[in-house]
Amino acid sequence: MNIREKLYIDGQWVDSDCGKTTKVINPATGEIIANVQQASKQQIEQAIAAADKAYKETWGPMPAVQRSRIMHKIAAMITKDLDAIARVETQNVGKPIIESKNIDVPGAADTFEYFANISVDILGDTIPSPFGSVVMDYTIREPLGVIGAITPWNFPFLLAARKIATAIAAGNTVVIKPATLTPLSTLMLGEIFDKAGLPAGVVNIVPASGREIGEAFSSSPVVHEVTFTGSTSIGTGLMEQCGKSLKACTLELGGKSPAVVCSDCDIDETVAGALFGVFVNQGECCCGLTRLIVHQDVYDEFTSKFINAVKKIRVGDPLDENTQMGPLVDASHLETVMDYIESGKAEGATLACGGNRMSTGDYAKGLFVEPTVFADVTPEMRIWKEEIFGPVVTITKAANNEELVELANDTEYGLAASIWTRDLKTAHQMAGKIDAGTVWFNLHNFLFPAAPYCGFKSSGVGGELGKQSLLAMTKTKNVMINLMPEIFKWY
Ligand code: NAP
Repeated sequence: MNIREKLYIDGQWVDSDCGKTTKVINPATGEIIANVQQASKQQIEQAIAAADKAYKETWGPMPAVQRSRIMHKIAAMITKDLDAIARVETQNVGKPIIESKNIDVPGAADTFEYFANISVDILGDTIPSPFGSVVMDYTIREPLGVIGAITPWNFPFLLAARKIATAIAAGNTVVIKPATLTPLSTLMLGEIFDKAGLPAGVVNIVPASGREIGEAFSSSPVVHEVTFTGSTSIGTGLMEQCGKSLKACTLELGGKSPAVVCSDCDIDETVAGALFGVFVNQGECCCGLTRLIVHQDVYDEFTSKFINAVKKIRVGDPLDENTQMGPLVDASHLETVMDYIESGKAEGATLACGGNRMSTGDYAKGLFVEPTVFADVTPEMRIWKEEIFGPVVTITKAANNEELVELANDTEYGLAASIWTRDLKTAHQMAGKIDAGTVWFNLHNFLFPAAPYCGFKSSGVGGELGKQSLLAMTKTKNVMINLMPEIFKWY
């Protein structure tokens, strides 16, 4: 597969008509790996028009079973090209190749597969009428039309797959804008769509300015829903814009997910699970574990074992199969993360390990930061409250189970949480009290396409994955039929 730098509109690879390009940089080496063209306002409108045409003429009217067959082909082609896509994803985002190969790319194929399967099972209801058998009533689920999709830089391929698969499985068409930092794997999907026989215009991929695409989607009369994954601040602004034209807006936003470590947990299992929760994707993970809240009875033992394990994480060249953590995505994000580390120190948290940029020897050209743990963190500190989105975790002591839950909920976010205990009763009771869209029990950061994923509080509106997300991409039409033997006369 080739690296693509052009726009993918109406099934064609086209040049930008404004001549604007952005450099795509490998954060492990600082090398430019592509110069990706940016769509003009006019080209964003062309992409929306192509999606509208495909919705009306090809994809919308196509029988669901035919659409499903094409989506299965897309899944198979992603699997066939897994290594090539994973390599590009790793070079662009900095995530370790073992993650791109085992999480991002197969996860995307599974997502197309899952939505292809359930796309043939979008059912309406038969509604019992109060008029008996003389009035029949039923509902049909119809697609919405054109969906505008915007994705962030941390899981570009997986999140693009999620948005596209859900939308097209319901018969909608899509214009998608990848994050400017990481457009490459999303553009690779264009080649896969061509090979799989997806009709022209069903999915259009337009690298473009976030502000311009937000304005184009929210003001277009043919875009019926905007689905956005990214920061809470940009998502909030987008929803305000969409509100002006009464356009639906699904938002998958930030997080500050806690892990509640109970006194009866299996400490070794908790340490292993927490490492995956915190450091997968360098901690640049919306549902990533950022606050460890530990019962006082196991605080010392857990903290010491966890810190020892963190010190052994292998940071390095993300293309090396042995690497466990790569560089951060770009220099400005690295600065933000370092600023949070400084604030943790200044506000009195105990820096238990890490805390430095790695910039000598093999690390000199990349954007590497040590895996960092702060202990004795209290709720007034910025590192407790704000999303850091890097390899930094806080540890806080709680006196009892009530305080564990209270601290877990002490956040504006509500994306995910995990509970670590050997007692199913404790886990079940706590799960009911924790205000988050996903609660794991002795796990963190496990997602799969059939399991719904929704953010509570400032973490989002609406949700992704699961059958409910497919139904959310449809509108319900009610059909009522007069079967009266005689003419209905009121006047
Ligand atoms: P971001 O800055 O909000 O950007 C997300 C996307 O929005 C990018 O494609 C960006 O384009 C675009 N954008 C920028 N300004 C816009 C505007 N005015 N209108 C419309 N779109 C605009 O977020 P990020 O830094 O890429 O990603 C990190 C954030 O995403 C974190 O907060 C993380 O928690 C969240 N996230 C949430 C989930 C979830 O499922 N809940 C999953 C992953 C990430 P440009 O790249 O061109 O700026």
